[in-house]
Amino acid sequence: MDAPGQTSKLIKGASGDWEVVIGMEIHAQVTSQAKLFSGAAAAFGGGPNEHVSLVDAAMPGMLPVINAECVRQAVRTGLGLKAKVNLKSVFDRKNYFYPDLPQGYQISQYKSPIVGEGEVLVEMPDGDAFRVGIERLHLEQDAGKLLHEQHPAMSLVDLNRSGVALMEIVTRPDLRSAEQAKAFLGKLRTILRYLGTCDGDMEKGHLRADVNVSVRRPGAPLGTRCEIKNLNSIRFIGQAIEHEAWRQIGVIEDGGTIEQETRLFDPDNGETRSMRTKEEAHDYRYFPDPDLLPLELSPSLVEDLREKLPELPDEKKARFMRDYGLTDYDAGVLVAERETAAYFETVVTGAKNRDAKLAANWVINELAGRLNREGKDIAAAPVTPSQLGSILDLVAHGTISGKIAKDVFEIVWNEGGDPRAIVESRGLQQVTDISAIAALIDDVIAKNPDKVADAQRNPKAIGWFVGQVMKASGGKANPQAVNDLLKTKLGL
Ligand code: ADP
Ligand code: MG
Repeated sequence: MDAPGQTSKLIKGASGDWEVVIGMEIHAQVTSQAKLFSGAAAAFGGGPNEHVSLVDAAMPGMLPVINAECVRQAVRTGLGLKAKVNLKSVFDRKNYFYPDLPQGYQISQYKSPIVGEGEVLVEMPDGDAFRVGIERLHLEQDAGKLLHEQHPAMSLVDLNRSGVALMEIVTRPDLRSAEQAKAFLGKLRTILRYLGTCDGDMEKGHLRADVNVSVRRPGAPLGTRCEIKNLNSIRFIGQAIEHEAWRQIGVIEDGGTIEQETRLFDPDNGETRSMRTKEEAHDYRYFPDPDLLPLELSPSLVEDLREKLPELPDEKKARFMRDYGLTDYDAGVLVAERETAAYFETVVTGAKNRDAKLAANWVINELAGRLNREGKDIAAAPVTPSQLGSILDLVAHGTISGKIAKDVFEIVWNEGGDPRAIVESRGLQQVTDISAIAALIDDVIAKNPDKVADAQRNPKAIGWFVGQVMKASGGKANPQAVNDLLKTKLGL
């Protein structure tokens, strides 16, 4: 495994090799009933300004009160990121004027965040693994939303999102390619979903990322970075990094220099464009919010939350490999979504002696493939773990072949029902009766004397006969019996 910063993923410019360096600031909406400092609902949707308390609307004299559940969620997340939880942290005011921010400042954490340094292990589909350092995680308020297209002459504001709790998670500049950045965000989302601290729904904006990109010659000090704001899909993150890296390489190779700036990604043309330079950057005049005491956590609260953490993806993967003998790859695919891992485990443990490797294959290929094609969620899979388990048992007992099993899966998917009853009522049992198979073989041999001659010269040609006999049996003949009997009859 590569240590942070040592993974080498060079790209070739006109004047030689370049290394891309990426660090991310991720905004994750905290899963909670109420907002960070008010009792208004944090729920998505609702009519405009329905979830707005006097605190969220910043009415004079209103005081923020910290939501203990949001604090617990941040601590859980810190623990899940193997990070240091700070027993004392401070809320600061980040001052700026914007119409969707009625307070005139955002309550955030600046110098003393609730969570300090941590780490995320990321594994790529090709088996490459690397660690990404987490610099910090802090709690802050989200802003409201401006609506410019509702009225011809006015902009409207919806404060439902105003004051909703966000966790900002900041990584070290440890990522070295667009692929790594995408895989990292996928892994982070998986961890958050396991923890239940953020639903990871990027379409709803519940998880979004600012991506810092710089380029350098291999081994050189860090280059000047540009920050691409507010990316809300993993695909856009990849496209924005690719484009930005090549843009910077082009500027430097043409003799220019990179100015530190904030850029926006335009999904329509896949390009980034300048939003503001360092000189235009805000001075937020951070200072500790006088309305809020420093946040102090008791060590026992943190220990209690640590003990109650669910099994996380890395641990689950290790256990699947150890207990069920799965490959690194299969275990990795299964644990990527908690629901998929649970489905698999229900199948394997549903009855004695189920073949875990076979179950993994079915969940990964047949089930997940099918769900994907139909855009369905595994929680609503038409084939339940118990039905899939029955199908696997029918194969294991030799009642049906693997091929017929796929047909049974199809029938259960479309019509439901008990797989065992389906096999019986439709006569799908495997034919192991030697005389029935012999009759099919004799027929194929009689009709194809030229192929018989072929097979006697080249024994590999037996495959063609196996195929014909299986077809004649409607896929129900036992393939091993067909093979054995064919060899005898063809004199091989
Ligand atoms: P600021 O607080 O000014 O935004 P930080 O030092 O906190 O700056 O960095 C913000 C993000 O930028 C972090 O994710 C960090 O990893 C990343 N970063 C810092 N320097 C670089 C660089 N030279 N290239 C790419 N990313 C960087
Ligand atoms: Mg920052």
